[in-house]
Amino acid sequence: MHELSIVLSIVDLAEEQVRKNNAQRVENIELDIGSMAGVEWDALDFAWTAGVKNSVLENAQRQVNRITARARCLQCQHEFEITQPFEPCPACHDYLVEYIQGKELRVKSLTVS
Ligand SMILES: [Zn+2]
Repeated sequence: MHELSIVLSIVDLAEEQVRKNNAQRVENIELDIGSMAGVEWDALDFAWTAGVKNSVLENAQRQVNRITARARCLQCQHEFEITQPFEPCPACHDYLVEYIQGKELRVKSLTVS
């Protein structure tokens, strides 16, 4: 499962931070996840529970910031909220658009103790 490998890489990163800071565990973790990052929310929740077991993240408070995807049309420069891949520009109906945001998949902050 794709989401489990995401969780496991977050666990790796968290363990590295804990080690670096001579801490014991993670108190809080904040994630930025874009709506176009290809992450299924339910699958991520499920993978999280399984993936953090017996790790420094097991009892961490998790906050997920869901970032709405936005795109810019390369023809008319119109900016719009995009809800699915290959959605045309609502102004001129061109398909040549670039993402401004929404593909994020990162740890925004992490508090260790
Ligand atoms: Zn356009």
